[in-house]
Amino acid sequence: MSILTVSPFAEKKIKQGKQLLLAEDFPNIAENNQLVYLYSQSKDFLGTGYLSSQNKGIGWFLSPNKEKLTVTYFQGLFERAKAKRQSYYDNELTTAFRLFNQDGDDFGGLTIDLYGDYALFSWYNAFVYSLKDVIVEAFQTVFPEVLGGYEKIRFKGLDFESDHLYGQEAADTFTILENGVTYEVFLNDGLMTGIFLDQKNVRGALAGGLSTGKTLLNMFSYTGAFSVAAAFGGSSQTTSVDLAKRSLDKTREQFLVNGIEPESQKIYVMDVFGYFNYAKKKELTYDMIVLDPPSFARNGKKTFSVAKNYGDLVKEAVEILENNGTLIASTNAANVSDKKFRQMIEEALKNKGVKFTVFQEEKLPADFHIADNFPEGNYLKVLFIKIKK
Ligand code: SAH
Repeated sequence: MSILTVSPFAEKKIKQGKQLLLAEDFPNIAENNQLVYLYSQSKDFLGTGYLSSQNKGIGWFLSPNKEKLTVTYFQGLFERAKAKRQSYYDNELTTAFRLFNQDGDDFGGLTIDLYGDYALFSWYNAFVYSLKDVIVEAFQTVFPEVLGGYEKIRFKGLDFESDHLYGQEAADTFTILENGVTYEVFLNDGLMTGIFLDQKNVRGALAGGLSTGKTLLNMFSYTGAFSVAAAFGGSSQTTSVDLAKRSLDKTREQFLVNGIEPESQKIYVMDVFGYFNYAKKKELTYDMIVLDPPSFARNGKKTFSVAKNYGDLVKEAVEILENNGTLIASTNAANVSDKKFRQMIEEALKNKGVKFTVFQEEKLPADFHIADNFPEGNYLKVLFIKIKK
């Protein structure tokens, strides 16, 4: 533990409730990976934090009190986090959700997700990773019903990214429930798990009947989760498109675990821009199109980034969308603001000369609880847009 005197500017940000400590606000810092007590230049105690560099930021503010990171400390955090998520525990149709969301639950650098009987811990920096024994011990006392844990390493410096952490081992693949739909997941194969839990509300809307009787094209489909939700909700046919070869088997499997014949649906291993051309040539059209690309992707020499190219996707999608069709435009790109995302989409739609209405919007679901004074933490942006040609 050491003492850190902060600039008036950084002090102001801390008092506004900003938990992420940014390098530019803390010049001349040599320490890393330790607990710090923060003081103002006039020697007022500001609170407890820690320093550890990660993808974004050099550390986190934790609490206005003098804290020691004991088992009891984490038990308190976990009990509060669990209480916030009571509505998810009460819902028998959903068995996978986020249990602990970093600064939204007052400890930046750590997320914990529940997948049925198992928990998945993601460590975002070396300091939080060094506390893992204390954290796991506290977790087991507050969540005794969880049978075992897995971990993902989300910082540089270790030679593995995924491992079993404690307790029972899960099967290589197993199923969870979300809004009554079954999804197959895996907890120890790279950083991905087969499902992005932050999209539960969008899948919920599809499973709940938004696409009943309609055809749906799911671009960047990964394991086909949106397609499966739509088919479950009565979509007349889904088409899933993803570049990755393994998406084919994974998507077939997702249909099978829901009792849906994979042959009744379409699945293409293809570049999305290649598929747009194919669809235009074959005069295929869709009632609904989901666009949920990665923030950045490379295919051979071509690169795609949400910040630069999202409008191109929208323009292509409009060409094969039925009149009065629905576009579900989604991104998790943290570097694109809500405002910029909307502007890119509106510009593309105006360029296409169509009329449009945004009739639903989704941000992160409640289990991804975000800190009050850090709206930037709500990175997910999803617009449901009705389009008249
Ligand atoms: N929409 C998905 C998650 C997408 S993850 C869901 O909610 O479940 C991003 C996916 O985009 C990956 O599966 C990756 O293989 C795919 N991808 C990246 N570039 C692509 C491209 N040019 N064409 C098709 N798929 C692409």
